[in-house]
Amino acid sequence: MNKKIIVTGGCGFIGSHTAVELQNKGYDVVLIDDLSNAYENTINRVFMITGIRPIFEKIDLKDEKETQHCFHKHRDAIGVIHFAAYKAVGESKTDPIKYYENNFKGLIHVLKAMQSNSISNIIFSSSATVYGLPEKLPIQEDLPTQRPFSPYGNTKKVGEEILEDVVKCGWLKAISLRYFNPIGAHESGNIGELPQGTPNNLMPYITQTAVGKLDQLQVFGDDYETKDGTAVRDYIHVVDLALAHVKALDYLLNNEDQTNLEIFNLGTGKGYTVMEVIKTFERVSGQELNYEIVERRDGDVPSLFANGDKASKILGWEVKRNLDDMIQDSWKWEQNNRNNN
Ligand code: UDP
Repeated sequence: MNKKIIVTGGCGFIGSHTAVELQNKGYDVVLIDDLSNAYENTINRVFMITGIRPIFEKIDLKDEKETQHCFHKHRDAIGVIHFAAYKAVGESKTDPIKYYENNFKGLIHVLKAMQSNSISNIIFSSSATVYGLPEKLPIQEDLPTQRPFSPYGNTKKVGEEILEDVVKCGWLKAISLRYFNPIGAHESGNIGELPQGTPNNLMPYITQTAVGKLDQLQVFGDDYETKDGTAVRDYIHVVDLALAHVKALDYLLNNEDQTNLEIFNLGTGKGYTVMEVIKTFERVSGQELNYEIVERRDGDVPSLFANGDKASKILGWEVKRNLDDMIQDSWKWEQNNRNNN
């Protein structure tokens, strides 16, 4: 049976881990990436893990013609997992047009190319940022969305709304996966997160500070109403997250009568403060971390954690990796990769 899946943004952090798990489950993977925030060498690294070389297409999804051509070439694909997007929250505030252009053109061109080539299943990479400042914790999927605090977040919210409308037309089935805070790396140390320039996110900032690439971690705020005053997030291991995509795909392919966009939260259900993450890092790595407490970061919410019951009940997905595993694997990846990509 044909099991070809197109993975856009496939050389990126979550895309590459998902490619590995798709191959482990017998799917044939086509990775599309424009390499604007990823490296082609990721293909070799996926091959090192699985022994299978994914097909690679260097395509800029902003280019409709190129996108159509690529999807036509792979019109035997049975589904698409759409990761390709710009994702730096801060940059999206200083250059919103860049974010709206890239993330919307990418999604629209993918949908048009799917329609032209009769590919009818898509999984969309979304984010917990669509909940804004949630009124209730833990967050369940039926909590109303709010306008996110950044243009990046808004591309995820509106992206879901676009999918909702297209699914109602009848030719498309779609799932949106709302990620909480993905960290960690593949346990082999071969693939992981490789932010270009100074990282925005907590975990790469911690590991880069620990290896001396950066001087000092700034902890954004210790006056939140949380157990130690620092903000709470639901960190999830990227391999658990990748496995959820495979489960979601299996569900989507077998669910013939889908009439609405299906939404799932992907988190562990457990929240940890920034200080707990730092202390766990120091224990797991044996390194003391240089950090200081500074002002809150604009747009940060005090606490965010998921109720992940829907994904476990409907998709049969289970979180298997804890915070120690996440930090251990992030640290291994940083140490393996400080000088190369
Ligand atoms: N954070 C921090 N220092 C940093 C980066 C992040 O204290 O250099 C905090 C941030 O305020 C938030 C948590 O770490 O409470 C996770 O932030 P991240 O940017 O990784 O993800 P977000 O939840 O903002 O998407």
